[in-house]
Amino acid sequence: MTVSVATLGFPRIGLRRELKFALESYWAGKSTLSELQISAAGLRALNWTRQKALGADILPSNDFSLYDHVLDTSAMIGAVPARFDWDSDTVDSDLYFAMARGAQGPSACGHSHDTTAQEMTKWFDTNYHFMVPELTAGQTFRIASTKIFDEFEEAKALGYTTRPVLLGPVSYLMLAKGKAVEPLALLPQLLDTYAEILARLAKAGAEWVQIDEPCLVLDLTTEQRTAFERAYARLATRGPKLMLTTYFGGLGDNLDLVADLPVHGLHLDLVRAPEQLEPAVAKLQPHVLLSLGVIDGRNIWRSNLPDLYWRLKELAGKRDLILAPSCSLLHTPVDLALETGLDPEIAQWLSFAVQKIEELAALAKALNEGEDASFAAFSASRIAAVARQTSAKIHNAEVASRLAALDERATHRTSSFAARREVQQARLALPAYPTTTIGSFPQTPEVRKARSAHIKGEIDDAAYEQYLRVETRAAVKWQEEIGLDVLVHGEFERNDMVQYFGEQLAGFAFTRAGWVQSYGSRCVRPPILYGDVSRPYPMTVDWWRYAQEQTDKPMKGMLTGPVTILNWSFVRDDQPRETSCRQIALAIRDEVQDLEAAGAAIIQIDEAALREGLPLRRSEWQHYLDWAVESFRITSSGVRDDTQIHTHMCYSEFNDIIRAIGAMDADVISIETARSQMELLDAFASYAYPNEIGPGVYDIHSPRIPAVREMTDLLTLAGKHVPPQQIWVNPDCGLKTRKWDDVRPALVAMVAAAQAMRTKV
Ligand code: GLN
Ligand code: ZN
Repeated sequence: MTVSVATLGFPRIGLRRELKFALESYWAGKSTLSELQISAAGLRALNWTRQKALGADILPSNDFSLYDHVLDTSAMIGAVPARFDWDSDTVDSDLYFAMARGAQGPSACGHSHDTTAQEMTKWFDTNYHFMVPELTAGQTFRIASTKIFDEFEEAKALGYTTRPVLLGPVSYLMLAKGKAVEPLALLPQLLDTYAEILARLAKAGAEWVQIDEPCLVLDLTTEQRTAFERAYARLATRGPKLMLTTYFGGLGDNLDLVADLPVHGLHLDLVRAPEQLEPAVAKLQPHVLLSLGVIDGRNIWRSNLPDLYWRLKELAGKRDLILAPSCSLLHTPVDLALETGLDPEIAQWLSFAVQKIEELAALAKALNEGEDASFAAFSASRIAAVARQTSAKIHNAEVASRLAALDERATHRTSSFAARREVQQARLALPAYPTTTIGSFPQTPEVRKARSAHIKGEIDDAAYEQYLRVETRAAVKWQEEIGLDVLVHGEFERNDMVQYFGEQLAGFAFTRAGWVQSYGSRCVRPPILYGDVSRPYPMTVDWWRYAQEQTDKPMKGMLTGPVTILNWSFVRDDQPRETSCRQIALAIRDEVQDLEAAGAAIIQIDEAALREGLPLRRSEWQHYLDWAVESFRITSSGVRDDTQIHTHMCYSEFNDIIRAIGAMDADVISIETARSQMELLDAFASYAYPNEIGPGVYDIHSPRIPAVREMTDLLTLAGKHVPPQQIWVNPDCGLKTRKWDDVRPALVAMVAAAQAMRTKV
């Protein structure tokens, strides 16, 4: 019996984000397409060589992408929305990038590209965004991009016979948006094209293809199950062998379905769902090659190799196995070796993409040749695991006892919303349709320059602080001048809404180069939450105080909520997420109370990522929402009745979570609505949401300056869904990505819109 190692996919962006820079230079017209292609080919070659050298036996191809693998799939099968006026046989790079990013005016290729990009949304429960396929009635498919074949050949020329990665047809359709068509109804046509692609890969010499069907870990309807049966009855009987690859959860009630599919191999995510191994082994035919996702592809923790060895030893004696990360390594940073600034004790607990392949290789070697064959790797792994379990850096008894002591009172405000509202109104004396913004003002090139000069030590703390004060003061004065009612300090001192807090809290570490692709060329460096969280000192009070001193209008205290901090970080795997979340909540609660003590009458706690933390299976939603809401309430319940708590959520789908939003009991919630014509207020209306709401009246994602009339129309519309006395007036989200030249006239118009509304009440 043999155990081999596969990787399922490697980070595309490059060790030093080379792809990002190559793309952005090409988009800016500073380099040519062939220069971009040369960089991309260089990265692919490097990735293959590297993975091979690290001990991977099975190398992926077509895991690379210039933008997104779902977009690649759309290009591969010629699913190009009509608005792109596509009239050729192939999707060229102009069209590809237009689908990704939108385009204006005729371009070199002669197409007219005055068109909006495809929609983008989160890839399952990750922070990676994919381009949503758009399909229409009468949709046809044909091979319109040879990328998957080209990359297979490219690897072959370098001496590697790869296992191409293909997004499965059913998941592709389930992720698509259909216009006048139910995407799954297009399955028969799509299967024709997939069959052709597989046949061509087989002809090129591909023995196996990794076919990703992550939708198999979701709740499925009968129709969706049938689609899987049809698809694999058709695709698995001819052509290359198929490694059906599932991840981000367990198969659960879909196991029977999967066990009956005529595929040649199955990959299981044993990090998210270790319990599925036993039933899967019992159900699967003996000839089905099992690929076990035993190393976490979604997180950065080093594994305990001896533990894994003992878990797998018996099975490895009975059947051939492939060991792999739980999912593609796309979601982890590339190489820990770049992290020279990390505390060495913490660094010892970590493993990035490169290290994860080494771990898999050591594990496979031990399973093939006996435990001693990986003696050194195993001892180091065991030592690190024990060190992490017992480290004083992780455990803080005080945090544990505070959490244990939390009772009902800690999660409930003293009085009901109605009673709070009365005293808040008396204290704040705001007009009807009060105006405010979500928090940030433009992070101009100057602001960024000052920040990076400060980081590099080119300007000292005092000079940087002085610069920020000038910016803040100017922003406050300007808000006062244009007549906003509730002001913000502008968040100029913040690099990012999570990082800023993480850097000041105990229990978080930050990487130098731990970049993970978010979308296209955009990467993020998620904080690493490694230990019990506490707040050594107030984080935002000084800036709030400075800003409040500049004005008599109320100045909002501005915080990021615990659920958002959690969801945008790499989190601990040695305790439940909910425990980590409650710890963060306690730290933010301290900050809320300090802001109140300093005199803040309004404190906003942003929960931008609450909804996206919803588990993939519906049966797990309630539990998540319960602890997420409780965490928010821990932060917000320690204040007096006359302190007004705001929250902000930037999305527009509330139906699933409206009860939870109600249970958060924030005095005011601001949400994103401008693009949806206030329709989403339906959810609030049918739930009879009692607290106040600021439905965003203009879309901050666009530089367009909204007319007063548009905003009064939206506010009038909003008043049909919720009582006008409950309505606040604000933009959809923070303004940090905008220019002052857009922000100024837009907010002046927004204030005018509120004033116009007031004359009607
Ligand atoms: N206060 C933050 C800002 O204005 C909120 C951003 C967000 O929720 N995405 O930037
Ligand atoms: Zn927002």
